[in-house]
Amino acid sequence: MAYRVTLLPGDGIGPEVAQAMQKCIDATGVKIEWDEQMVGEPAIKKYNTPLPDHVLDSVRKNKIAIKGPIVTPIGTGFRSVNVALRQALDLYACVRPVKYYEGTKSISKKLDLVIFRENTEDLYAGIEFELGTESCDKIIKEISALSPKKIRKDSAISIKPISVFGSRRIVKAAFEYAVKNNRRKVTAVHKANIMKFTDGLFLRTAQEVAEEYKGKIEFQDVIVDNMCMQLVQKPELYDVLVLPNLYGDIVSDLCAGMAGGLGIAPGANIGDEAALFEPVHGSAPKYAGQNKVNPTATILSGVLMLKHIGEAQAADRLERAVSAVLKEGKDVTYDLKTDRDDPTAVGTREMAQAIIARL
Ligand code: NAD
Repeated sequence: MAYRVTLLPGDGIGPEVAQAMQKCIDATGVKIEWDEQMVGEPAIKKYNTPLPDHVLDSVRKNKIAIKGPIVTPIGTGFRSVNVALRQALDLYACVRPVKYYEGTKSISKKLDLVIFRENTEDLYAGIEFELGTESCDKIIKEISALSPKKIRKDSAISIKPISVFGSRRIVKAAFEYAVKNNRRKVTAVHKANIMKFTDGLFLRTAQEVAEEYKGKIEFQDVIVDNMCMQLVQKPELYDVLVLPNLYGDIVSDLCAGMAGGLGIAPGANIGDEAALFEPVHGSAPKYAGQNKVNPTATILSGVLMLKHIGEAQAADRLERAVSAVLKEGKDVTYDLKTDRDDPTAVGTREMAQAIIARL
């Protein structure tokens, strides 16, 4: 029986990388019925919204979706489709594997990490009060009455909620992943020495969850600034990392850079009801329609999707094919060449064809 997967090509370079991924997945022989849906700029043109309700219905029904990047229009009143999708489907775990592939510009051959970023809380919850508004003045007065610390009157305020519920489920997801994927250690990353109540709660909850896995999976915690230095110097010490939203956002891009850049960084947003796979990079509008950009990040997101639906063998074959093309370094896009102006660089479609040829 074929799997039904919602395909969201997105906009900018999205349709090109999505098509490359789709061809690679189809070439593995796994039967997928693609339920293609318009989001982003084409959807704004047709439906006057970047995320029509029927798209959400499709993801809810199929439970699995894979998407290309989508532009976040500035100043149009449309909110980010990516944030909207995560919130509407409660995709609370942003999962990003970071791995060394020979032939890439990785800073370390020992990179093999999986990052679990909490996706729904923290300073990203969107609870903000704008400077000069009545609500902002009110909040400042309230806080001044409740706390000995004073806030300057000309401040804007963002709220950082971190709950036991949100922390527990992301830490649990990281440990469950570690068990299922033969990983040895989970590291919780925080700033609990300074943010004693919010990050302190995250850390305490992580320690409690870790007790449930004692003897099976090792646990440690590291303060986020120290983590950044250690990752650059000794990435081999780490395995699965679990972080609140903001640190997760920053550390995962740091790690994508360490592994050789956005062109090869895949990702997944996973909840209890649905999972959405996507490259880490954005829609790079300046390269749209040029058959130029690297499809690897989206193809590797497809590998994550295959693993998620239980097609581990096909996933491994596709990953090995990607790895062989990267290692050879011939049929690769400009960003993977030593000289970015190298005339032998191939296009998005040609790189996907080279990967398919090695399946
Ligand atoms: P971007 O990732 O789109 O591009 C930054 C630069 O990275 C590009 O100019 C290019 O040089 C390089 N790059 C990105 N993807 C590449 C690839 N596959 N191959 C080779 N090089 C690649 O980031 P941006 O310019 O900050 O964002 C553009 C738009 O994308 C914005 O509207 C942003 O909001 C949106 N965005 C969407 C997502 C998403 O859909 N998940 C993620 C990030 C940004």
